Order: sequence, then C-alpha cells, then structure tokens
Amino acid sequence: MPTAPAPTDVARLLLDWYDRHRRVLPWRALPGAGADPYRVWVSEVMLQQTTAAAVANAFAGFLARFPTVEALAAAPIDEVLHAWQGFGYYARARNLHRAAGVVAAAGGRFPDTEEGLRALPGVGPYIAAAVAAIAFDRPATVVDANVERVVARLFAIRTPLPAARPAIRAATATLTPPGRPGDFAQAMMDLGATVCTPRQPRCMICPLESACRASAEGVAGALPAKSPKPERPRRHGVAYWLTASDGRVLLRRRPAEGLLGGMMEVPTGPFRDRPWEAAEAVTAAPVAADWRPLAGTVAHGFTHFGLELRLFAARIGGADPALGTWSEVARLGDHALPTLMKKVVRHALAAGQDSRAAPAVRAPRAAASRRA
Ligand code: SF4
Repeated sequence: MPTAPAPTDVARLLLDWYDRHRRVLPWRALPGAGADPYRVWVSEVMLQQTTAAAVANAFAGFLARFPTVEALAAAPIDEVLHAWQGFGYYARARNLHRAAGVVAAAGGRFPDTEEGLRALPGVGPYIAAAVAAIAFDRPATVVDANVERVVARLFAIRTPLPAARPAIRAATATLTPPGRPGDFAQAMMDLGATVCTPRQPRCMICPLESACRASAEGVAGALPAKSPKPERPRRHGVAYWLTASDGRVLLRRRPAEGLLGGMMEVPTGPFRDRPWEAAEAVTAAPVAADWRPLAGTVAHGFTHFGLELRLFAARIGGADPALGTWSEVARLGDHALPTLMKKVVRHALAAGQDSRAAPAVRAPRAAASRRA
C-alpha cells in the first residue's frame, strides 16, 4: 500500500472542516443534538442504491407516515410497501418492517453495537456500522461509495474496484478516530459528496489536500479505478392484462420470497432466457380467454439482468375473485405496484385501442382443451 497519510491529521482536518461545512439533511441531527437511531437506520436503508437527493424528497413523507419504530412495526406490510414505491429493491422494505417488529418488541430500543444491529433482519455490515457510529458514536468503520472514493484517493489505491474493497476498508479503519466517530463517518460522506466528487474532485478547496497521495501524484480524477462490468444478461417474460366486463383489471400478489416478493403485479409468467412465442405465452396465461398481443414490449433493468416483457390483453365476463384482486383502472395507484408494473400499466393503457383490433392468439389445441 502507498505511504499512508497521518491518521490524526486526517481526522482533525476533516472534523474541523465538517464543523463548518456539514450538510443539512432531513435525517441528520443538528449540531450538538443526539442522533435518533430510527431516523439514521431508515435513511441508511433508503440510501442504499438511491441518491441522497431522492431520499431527501421522500424521507419526510415516510417519517410522517411512520413517525416511530413502533408505528412502522404496527403498520400493515402493504402500507409500508406502498410508501416504499420509487425506491425499488422491495426486499429492503420488507426487512425494514420485520426489523421494526423486532425493535418494537424490545421496547423500541435499538441495539447499540454493530454486532447487535447485524442481528436485525436486513441489516448488513454497512448499515450496522453506519447506525453504530452515527447514532451511538461507536468507533465503527463506515465505508459507503463516497468514503470508498475519498480513501482510494487519499491512499492512492490503484487496484480496481471491487477487488480494492478490503484494502480501502483497512485504510479507512486506520483513519477512524476514537473520538467523534459518527461525525467522522458523516464528514467523509459529505466530503465525498461535495468536494471529492467522482469526476472532477475539487482538490484546491479540499481540507485533506496536504495529506492526499492521489492529489500529489496527479491521479485523483482517475481513482478509484473500476473493473469493466460484465454485460447484464437479458431475460424475457409475459404480462397478462385481463379486464372484466365491468372494466376492472386483474392484479395478484407475487410470492413472498424472490424477485419483487410480496408485491402486487399484473399477472406475469416466468422470466426466462429465450423469448416467448405467442402460442406458448397464451398457453401459460392465468385463464383461458381470447388473448391478443399488444404492440411493443416493456423493458426494465434489474441489478443482475435486463427484462423484456411482451403483453397480452383479454376481456372476460365476471371478475372471478379466485383469480386475484380486481382493481378499477383509476384505483391502480392505490396498490403497491413496483416500477416494472407501473410501466406495464402505462403500456397496456396506451396500447388498449390497438389490442382490440389485433386477432386473438390460439393456444395449441391440447392445452386449450385442458384449461377449458
Ligand atoms: Fe479528494 Fe482531492 Fe481531497 Fe484528495 S485532495 S481527498 S482527491 S478532493
């Protein structure tokens, strides 16, 4: 590892800077006030995979709806999932709800150590460290994407990410001071967000410029290096837009575990590596009907794969409750629909007129008679 900056210098310089330039964020305690573990925890869960600007817009609304950990624990999961719309990664909302139940059952007291926090559902090493440091001033090593970038530059760590992560973590641990570890963690985050930015770090105004190896070596903008991302595989699925004669649309709940677990959906078939032919898509439909293809497809990016959905639409007589939940089109927004399903709804509504002109797709004879 390159020559390390003196830890005490870095901590002192950074905390001095933080006392003058700290960001005001809705979840952050004011100077001198103790941080609320509930607010810190909720914000850190939201900030995973979501920008601070987006979280800042949504945080107040979430806290107004669930002002305490007890209120969150007592809320129906559907209400929590609904409030989580727009953040994606709904497993985080389900874990948030489960963990709130554990904390509420313990009298509303959060564990105050990394180890204790990690025992809560969905709390991994990063969130445990962040809550322990920020809410309880434990000397935990907190490394988010901002801290990763600052430390890679301070130490001029040239190994590309993600292989550099252990070295960056070890380097961060050497800098974390025993006093004010929570402020130190937030100061690192603030420096990364406002000064040591990804593209053009503002070294001229940086409080750590005198200690920074990357700046001295003229390589700040090139670090941290990143390994090329492998191409995301593409998967294919089918969504079935089924309306009853009264105009209501069929929704159903996805299985609790797995992708979009527990969320409401326009019924879909399995996602697979090869595209669906019309006849086999109709065969796999939730009910036999005159299914008509809608023009175009719905594309969506998940973390590990890209999805392309074909849509088929049909109309049946009665709204059979055994098939799922029937919703008026105007009330679809009341359901906890993930972003993918909102795209499906938009696509189906926009293409609705065309579908009535398209010929129905015939299921293969054997399959059709099986389901009749
Ligand atoms: Fe980042 Fe530049 Fe500060 Fe180094 S001197 S920490 S590269 S902003």
